[in-house]
Amino acid sequence: MIDCMPYLEAHRDELLEHLASLIRIPSVEGAPAPGAPFGREVARCLEKMLTLCERLGLRTGSMDGRVGWCEYGAGEEMIAVLAHLDVVPAGEGWTEAAPFAGEVKNGRIYGRGAMDDKGPAVAAVYALAALKDAGFVPARRIRILFGTNEETGCQDMAWYRAHGGEMPVMGFTPDGEYPLINGEKGIFTCTYTRRLAPSGAYRLTRFEGGTASNVVPAYAAAELACPAEAAARIAQDKVTVTPIEGGIRVEAQGVSAHGSTPEQGENAIGRLAAALSQLPLEGDLADCMAFLAGRIGMETRGESLGLAMRDEVSGELTVNLGTAAFADDTLSLSFSIRYPVTKTKDDVYPRLTRAFALGGFAETALHHDAALYLPPESELVRRLLAVYEAATGEKAAPKCIGGGTYAKSIPNLLAFGPIFPGDVVREHQPDEYMEVDRLLQNAGIIAAAMAALAG
Ligand SMILES: [Zn+2]
Repeated sequence: MIDCMPYLEAHRDELLEHLASLIRIPSVEGAPAPGAPFGREVARCLEKMLTLCERLGLRTGSMDGRVGWCEYGAGEEMIAVLAHLDVVPAGEGWTEAAPFAGEVKNGRIYGRGAMDDKGPAVAAVYALAALKDAGFVPARRIRILFGTNEETGCQDMAWYRAHGGEMPVMGFTPDGEYPLINGEKGIFTCTYTRRLAPSGAYRLTRFEGGTASNVVPAYAAAELACPAEAAARIAQDKVTVTPIEGGIRVEAQGVSAHGSTPEQGENAIGRLAAALSQLPLEGDLADCMAFLAGRIGMETRGESLGLAMRDEVSGELTVNLGTAAFADDTLSLSFSIRYPVTKTKDDVYPRLTRAFALGGFAETALHHDAALYLPPESELVRRLLAVYEAATGEKAAPKCIGGGTYAKSIPNLLAFGPIFPGDVVREHQPDEYMEVDRLLQNAGIIAAAMAALAG
């Protein structure tokens, strides 16, 4: 058992400077340029990382400016650590430090990407350098893959897969949490539309709500051209009706939550549909609101759509109606539907199609991410948990989540770290930081995990 901590402690300042230099490059996706498919800053960040790896004596490679890697050791087989160098935009509200300065203070390194995922990427590089320095001879090559498009679609790893990039026999991505995520639900991101031929005294002129399919909408609004007395027909909690010229405006409040846990929110679009269905509508509009209110409404498990299912390890299928839009007499709804980790596309998709066909809706967009699951007794789960337990002295159990991580982007990976249970999470928020001690601790765990998988 190699102890990498002395090397990591000795290189603490260098590691921090390395990370700060990457944080100073605002690698938010930008316009494609020659050799920079995700924008110049993203490409610059990847080049910088590869230069730093070379300086540490690691072999490097890259594919089309989309994915880079560094590698150590020999052997037919390869194990991988996958991290990403792109970041989400800084956003508003930074008070402790500037988002792209890489400032170290109060035992923390601040900046966009410090935790997600430049910090873990640099921790992995120093972990590998530490193993090399200790003369560790792995039986499998150890490769750190640097992706550049995790935040905006994972086209980096899709490209790597499609263009002959070598696949690991096992690996992990420090872009999730500890102890270990061994299951991620399957996800349908889909859009359904239906034309509503105008008829009767109630005409829909506006119906909209939500910001994204994977967020529970906190607000939705509709406007109708209709008789003035309509306002008195709607009586519902958290719904307000305002007379407007020639009709009414109906607004519904909800509670936002992440689309992977819709039961923690309240769906404003479902609430709005329920309110509208109290009106004496006719024709397509009546049908459609009855379907929306009755089959979807505020439900989060798809019961009335006929989608309800669960498994022991990951729980219920969840449905989130994320956005609604109405234009050219056509209503368009987007959903994020997440199914249990031991189920397959075939368990869900035919039911989904049937449910919306019955409501008169046509599918106009569909993206499917298969579920990911490795049972607790599998080799990768056992080895990574053993590393975590040895490093922390805590007995640990793997867990399944509704969200999708970077682990889904290539086969044989699980999300392992960098966030410890109970730690403050500031990813994608202002004042993102990583504690310097946590950074070093991560590097130590990553080195042990590399050795456990490659040794
Ligand atoms: Zn990330």
